Amino acid sequence: MKVYKFGGASVKSAQGVKNLKEIIGKETDNLVVVVSAMGKVTNMLEAVTGSYFNKKPDLTQNLQTVKNFHYNIVTELYVEKAEIEQRLGEIFAKLEEIIVQKPSLSYDFEYDRIVSFGEILSTTIVSDYLNLQDCKNIFVDVRTCLKSDDNYREGNIEFALSEQFVRETMNFSGTNLYITQGFIAGTITNQTTTLGREGSDYTATLLASMLDAENVTIWKDVPGVMNADPNANSKLYSDVKVIPRLSYKEAIELSYCGASIIHPKTVKPLKNKKIPLFVRSFAEPDKVGSVINDFAEKVDMPPIYINKANQVLFTLTPRDFSFIAEEKLSSIFSLLASYKVKVSLIQTSAISFSLCIDYNQATFNKMISEFQDDYEVLYNTDVELITIRHYTQKEVDKIFNERIVFVEQRSRLTVRFVVPAA
Ligand code: ASP
Ligand code: MG
Repeated sequence: MKVYKFGGASVKSAQGVKNLKEIIGKETDNLVVVVSAMGKVTNMLEAVTGSYFNKKPDLTQNLQTVKNFHYNIVTELYVEKAEIEQRLGEIFAKLEEIIVQKPSLSYDFEYDRIVSFGEILSTTIVSDYLNLQDCKNIFVDVRTCLKSDDNYREGNIEFALSEQFVRETMNFSGTNLYITQGFIAGTITNQTTTLGREGSDYTATLLASMLDAENVTIWKDVPGVMNADPNANSKLYSDVKVIPRLSYKEAIELSYCGASIIHPKTVKPLKNKKIPLFVRSFAEPDKVGSVINDFAEKVDMPPIYINKANQVLFTLTPRDFSFIAEEKLSSIFSLLASYKVKVSLIQTSAISFSLCIDYNQATFNKMISEFQDDYEVLYNTDVELITIRHYTQKEVDKIFNERIVFVEQRSRLTVRFVVPAA
C-alpha cells in the first residue's frame, strides 16, 4: 500500500478536488489519502478560535467566512448538492454547539477542537465527491485511531497504541482507498488534538510507518524539494531547481533550518523502515519530483538557501554578571519551552546568551518581561535567518556583500546569518 498526502493548496478550490481525483485515479495500489484543511481554512479557523476565546464581536463574521468558503466549493463541485450541504450543515452545527458555550480556560484546548474542523470539512467533501465519482472510498476519522497525549497544539503520538488501531481500522478489507485527515489526533478520552501547524505531512508518514507502506507521496504546489524557495525574494539565488534525491538526514537538516517544504517531524517515522518519501507537484503530476530516502552512495548537493523570516534575536546577560553555566541554560530553556518557543539558533559567550527564535507577537513581551527578572535583555525584532547548506565562499560573498550581519555561524557544510529583514 501507499500513502498520498494532499495539502491545503492542492484542495483550495473545486478544481483542486477534481485534480486530486485525477491523481488518485491513476494509482492502482491500495491507498491511504491524507488531506489537510482546504486552502487557508486553518488560518480562518484560528481567527474563529481567537474571537471565541477572547469574546470578540467578529466571531459570527469569522465563522461565516469559513462557511462561505466551503459552500462555494461545493456549489462549484456538485450538480446535486443537497446531500453534501446537509452533511456540512451537521458539521457546522457541531462547531456552533462549541462556540455558543463559554470557553474553557485553556486556549490550546479550544484551538484544537475548533481548528480541527478544517480537516473534517475537507475530508468530508473529498470523500463524498470521490464516492459520487465512482472512486469508492472509506472515510476514516483519524482521531479514532491516531492517539496522542493531551499536549494540545503539539500532541505527542502514542505510537504503539495508534499503530494497533490504525492497522485494525485501515486493513483494506472491502476497499482499496481510505480518506482521512492530516494534522489532527485524538486523546484516549476522545478529545481532539493537533500536531503543530503544517502537521499533515507528519500524519502521512506516521500512517505509512504504522501500515508498512511501500512509499509516501506529498503532493505540493512546487515541483519537488527546491534549493531555494521559488516564491521568496530569490532574485539573489540564481539557478533555483529541483533536488532530485536527498538523504533523510539532509531533509531533516533542511526542515530544521526552516525550509517549509516538509514538517520537521516528517522524516523520522520513515527512517527506521526506510520508506521513501516523494515530493511531487499536483499541478504537474507527470514529473518525478524529489525522493527522500536512504542512499548507499553519497548524493551530491547544490547550494541550498533557506530564509526563515519573522525571527527575533535577543541577548540575555545575567544582571549579577555571573557566568552562563549549565543551570542557567536549563532555566532559560525551560522558560522558552513553557512558551512553546522554537529556537532557530543559539550563540553563547561567557556572560551572554543570544537566541534567534520564531517571533510570536502574542507572547513575546510577556516572555521577555519574565526574563528581565534575572537578565538584561536586548532584542531586535524583524530579523531573518538565512541558511546556506553546501555553501561556497563565492555564494556567501555575493549574498552578504553589503548586508548588515548580526550573527554568523559556520560549520563545514552550513553557514547561517541573522540579518535585518530585507
Ligand atoms: N491544515 C493544517 C495547517 O494549515 C495542517 C497542514 O496543512 O498540514 O497548518
Ligand atoms: Mg496547510
